[in-house]
Amino acid sequence: MTEVKKPMKRPRGKARVLEGKCIACGARCESSCPVAAVEMNEAGEPAILADKCIGCVKCIKVCPAQALEMCFTPEEQEILDELARAQGDAPIEEELDPEAKEMAVKLSAYRGVWVFVEQTEGEVAKVSWELMGKGRELADTLGVELSALVVGEHVEGLCREAFRYGADQAYLVDAPVFRHYRTEAYLKAVCQLISSYRPEIILMGATGLGRDLAGAVATVVGTGLTADCTGLGIDDKRNLMQTRPAFGGNIMATIMCDKFRPQMATVRPHVMQAAERQEGKSGTVIPVTCQVREEDMLTRVLEIILDKNKDKVDVAGAEFIVSGGRGMMGKENFTILHELAEALGGVVGASRSAVDAGWMPHERQVGQTGKTVRPKIYIACGISGAIQHLVGMQDSDLVIAINRDKDAPIFEVAHYGIVGDLFQVVPAITQRLRSQAQSPQEAFINA
Ligand code: FAD
Repeated sequence: MTEVKKPMKRPRGKARVLEGKCIACGARCESSCPVAAVEMNEAGEPAILADKCIGCVKCIKVCPAQALEMCFTPEEQEILDELARAQGDAPIEEELDPEAKEMAVKLSAYRGVWVFVEQTEGEVAKVSWELMGKGRELADTLGVELSALVVGEHVEGLCREAFRYGADQAYLVDAPVFRHYRTEAYLKAVCQLISSYRPEIILMGATGLGRDLAGAVATVVGTGLTADCTGLGIDDKRNLMQTRPAFGGNIMATIMCDKFRPQMATVRPHVMQAAERQEGKSGTVIPVTCQVREEDMLTRVLEIILDKNKDKVDVAGAEFIVSGGRGMMGKENFTILHELAEALGGVVGASRSAVDAGWMPHERQVGQTGKTVRPKIYIACGISGAIQHLVGMQDSDLVIAINRDKDAPIFEVAHYGIVGDLFQVVPAITQRLRSQAQSPQEAFINA
């Protein structure tokens, strides 16, 4: 009789802390442990209670600093080596616990990247094409399709436009009830689409409409939403890494939504580079009928009244911006910035300090709580370069800073820095520009 060999069980080992690597992130390891085997000391660093640890590796997975690892006894290591030998060169698959397995199955039911194409009376918000560029990148990394989500009335043409900006296909919801944006109608349509087609990522513009819709959708489908992202990427587990300023802009946080789908993010206009429009590119239109009836709507759009009092200057869309900060010392001194902006064919922006002082209207504020800009040239005059200002302008093609403090942080993001008194430097540049017959960009660099 041949002896039946019992299959060898993979030992689980115990977690251990790697000295000097803990960053005291706030006890994520402790809260992830299902058996209370992690104890925190006063410095916020963990100690593993080996007699309690069951080797579930949860603490290792949540640690943002790779400060924990598994360790095995010599006997356990021998078994592991034997298992590895028995498996030959085939990679040893990570053994998932039942909870993790269930999660992996749940998440894998969602595939594809969607970009919501925001339109008002058939005109698309430019941010949608900016998101299409980023969406294409994410979809290519994940190896999935990029879909446009087009909702409105008589908007089929926008699907074709979405293909030119990189979408592979477009879900089209076209009916009179969607003519004007109303949260309840759009919310129902988007939620119906999500439940039918299950995308893993949805991107929307951080506009008034986008913020309203994204928040409502995330709440109803029960997923996470990261607003005002400045960076989006994919990690090695197919999760969306959503980067945005946090704690008043003092740090950049990367937020993950690794247990829920879809992963939703909004991005402000001008943060991402718009995709290049490719004439002749086509895709598949998927018409979807949504069960949304006018008689069930609680709101009606009677009239659209455009804001006539709004500052007409579009700082966010300007190609040349001359911005002033507290260093301008007073409202009247902004005249020299207007003169320089005029010579460049641009507009005047401001830091929050200048806006708070009443020197410029809020519509001109650049930064975290103002506009995000991406001009060809951004000239910062008397602006120190606080992080909340930088997040709104650091993606400008060319940044020029004028500041009398050589250590001002603005010089860290500036391509050209002028250490000096702006009241002398700015008028000198304006004068020089006026006497040149070149393009503003060339003339400025030569000045
Ligand atoms: P300061 O920091 O006071 O800098 C003035 C600069 O002028 C100095 O560097 C000085 O050397 C220089 N200077 C003075 N005189 C001259 C001269 N004659 N010639 C040359 N240089 C001179 N800020 C924003 O800008 N946008 C935002 O959207 C924004 N959002 C915020 C959100 C939150 C939640 C918080 C907490 C803050 C926010 N802030 C924002 C404020 C931000 O933290 C800074 O306080 C602000 O940007 C500083 O403005 P400033 O650079 O004009 O002023």
